[in-house]
Amino acid sequence: MALRFFNTYSRQLENFEPRDPAGRKVDIYTCGPTVYSRAHIGNFRAYIFEDLLQRHLELRGYKVHRVMNITDVDDKTIRGAREAKIPLRKFTEQFKQAFFEDIETLQIKRPNEFPAATDQRYIDRMIEMIATLISRGLAYQAEDKSVYFRINKFPDYGKLAHFDLTQLQSTGRVKHDEYDKEHIGDFALWKAWDEEDGEVAWESPWGRGRPGWHIECSAMATALLGEQIDIHCGGVDNIFPHHEAEIAQSEGVTGKKFVRYWLHCAHLLVDGQKMSKSLGNFYTLPDVLEKGYTGREIRYALMRVHYRAPLNFTWEGMDEARQALARIDEWLARLRETAAAKTDTLKSDMHVGEQFEEALDDDLNISAALGFLFETIRQTNRAMDRGELDSASANSWLNWWERVNSVLSLPAGAQLRASLDVRGELRAVHIPAEIAELVRQREEARLAKDFRKSDELRNGLNARGWEVRDTEGGQKLTRRAGA
Ligand code: AMP
Ligand code: ZN
Repeated sequence: MALRFFNTYSRQLENFEPRDPAGRKVDIYTCGPTVYSRAHIGNFRAYIFEDLLQRHLELRGYKVHRVMNITDVDDKTIRGAREAKIPLRKFTEQFKQAFFEDIETLQIKRPNEFPAATDQRYIDRMIEMIATLISRGLAYQAEDKSVYFRINKFPDYGKLAHFDLTQLQSTGRVKHDEYDKEHIGDFALWKAWDEEDGEVAWESPWGRGRPGWHIECSAMATALLGEQIDIHCGGVDNIFPHHEAEIAQSEGVTGKKFVRYWLHCAHLLVDGQKMSKSLGNFYTLPDVLEKGYTGREIRYALMRVHYRAPLNFTWEGMDEARQALARIDEWLARLRETAAAKTDTLKSDMHVGEQFEEALDDDLNISAALGFLFETIRQTNRAMDRGELDSASANSWLNWWERVNSVLSLPAGAQLRASLDVRGELRAVHIPAEIAELVRQREEARLAKDFRKSDELRNGLNARGWEVRDTEGGQKLTRRAGA
């Protein structure tokens, strides 16, 4: 089956044809975090879906260039810095760093570029784009000195969200100064300085002020990826007005179709409601790690449902993720033992196929792909139970797993296995993910010479039935009999 995606713009599944099919290059732009607080795991559902997209395209031989912006100036960041009584840059920096830590814990590939909205080069680009929009009659400066996009002059406005403009009415929440707008749906490109902005301001042909959120993305996307982009992603809440506005601004300036494929993921829910800062029903990554779950368990839990289906976050769901991963770990340990046993006389009739990749070709159908993985595990385990899996086949399944795992990116406790010492024998045994994570944290503590933490972690491992010894070759784990 050809690779295909559901395009929000057409509301249809479309075969994927990038701009440069011969070079197999794909450009992706994703709306990144607004760094006014630590991102919550709902946000990470979006970033994990985008990571899955990138990894699958790479598995299929595409060279992906991904840009993820950082929104480091907007109402929320300015308010946060004012309340903390520190400069905006200092305020946002801590959340930027936390974001980088979190994506590492979740095995999300670092995008090639992370442009920040406050970088002067992008501010200049925003100003240039706004000037062009004004010269074309697509924007105007209102009495409040802010500059707005004139949506009535852009006939395609509303097409992405499938919105009828005449239905657009005041929500009653517009700021008083927005009554200067010609149409209730006109959005700010440049916000004139007001007292609440304090020190945060840039000079522009329209006076001191700061950019609107939407123009930030149009400027960074076109500056780094050119006038046309293959894929643009985000969560469904970004469709309107943010992405609709990005289209209007970018196409208003370039006259060219901005994005070929718009992909949006459904929300992570809590009790049927969107997980969000404003509802207060959110967990950050450290919140979930503190409950004893590992980064890869969280990654798996957020990834396992098709990206267009809403996903309810529950602790039972986290436990299911843990069990699923334990199943994979046990299977891999058995395959390794079988591969090492050199039983070449037996032949199994199970062959490695392409069903996993093909499921992902179909609009990233991860549920079907994982279904196939677990069916494979069931069948190969059965063959191993009967002693019917020869070592060559076990090796092919291990190689197949490498391919599958280049997309799933679930680094098992596998790396630790080699140093495992069970009852004096060096053997592959299953290390539960929780134990592997404690050993990993202890490794970090030792490297940082934090011996107190390292001792605490050793005690924690002991309490769970695992002895740890420090040797020249690294930590050695021994499972106590009966543990
Ligand atoms: P924000 O920092 O609010 O702009 O959000 C960053 C990204 O996370 C955007 O792509 C949002 O669409 C996405 N997002 C926010 N909340 C959720 C949620 N509960 N589930 C999935 N994605 C979300
Ligand atoms: Zn954006």
